[in-house]
Amino acid sequence: MTHFTRRYRLAVLFGLVSVVALVLAGRWLNATKRGGQGPAEPFRIAGNLYYVGATDAAAFLITGPEGHVVLDAGYPSTAPMIMASIAKLGFSIKDVKVLLNSEPHPDHAGGLGVLRQESGAELWASEATAFTLASGGDDPDGILPLRALVWIGVIGYPKMRVDHRFKDGDTIHLGPLALTAHITGGHTRGCTSWSFDVRDGDRVLNVVSACDLGRLATLQYPEQVADLERSIRVLRSLPVDIWVTCHARWWGRYRKFVASTSAEDPVEPFIDPEGYRAYLDSAEAELRSGRLH
Ligand SMILES: [Zn+2]
Repeated sequence: MTHFTRRYRLAVLFGLVSVVALVLAGRWLNATKRGGQGPAEPFRIAGNLYYVGATDAAAFLITGPEGHVVLDAGYPSTAPMIMASIAKLGFSIKDVKVLLNSEPHPDHAGGLGVLRQESGAELWASEATAFTLASGGDDPDGILPLRALVWIGVIGYPKMRVDHRFKDGDTIHLGPLALTAHITGGHTRGCTSWSFDVRDGDRVLNVVSACDLGRLATLQYPEQVADLERSIRVLRSLPVDIWVTCHARWWGRYRKFVASTSAEDPVEPFIDPEGYRAYLDSAEAELRSGRLH
């Protein structure tokens, strides 16, 4: 054996070991993130706003006379649970006409492709999010090993078609429903918060679905800190009665749901502007501390 072929073989061996290590690391990463998609009881939050997500991977149904909106979809394997929850509430997945999202990570956007297929709804996304959805989870701001894992199909999700792209401040209409997109980047560049009204009896409540505001060690870009500062400022400026995020435990899904079952006014436990301010305060403190997730 010549010196050259021995080196060649060593290089191939090293390459194979690296790929196996990456695959195992990816599996592990994915497995640890799977928590939070246990089945959860669907319920009405207020008026035409319902919770249809898993224990932690959130999803919301906003119903209307000309069709419904679903916001976020969990992992690909969460989508059947979301569809079962929609059916359990007495609605049809076929009446879902618009699919929205907060961010393109697999735990929130992975199931959008399945929901799109089953409903025939049109999927809307911000420009940056649309790239990631269409590529099955690839984010140009992600670190290389993570992107490589998406490229070889270890993490991520099936690629999906994005029907429409929106800009910051655009409002998506479906009959009388109107949801305004606030591109509040930082966690990801195109992360989108949503504000909309919900009519509950004779009151109108302001709802905000706020972005994740944590910085990831695996995703960084030059304008990230400036984006987060702006995002927190924008979110502070929105009128809020009811607030939610893509991780249900952050806004107290279970606690509020349990409280609502015995409350005289079942909506009252979800009215939580103090919790919203606390969420933004802790995001701001975390930003100042420079802590990464
Ligand atoms: Zn995320």
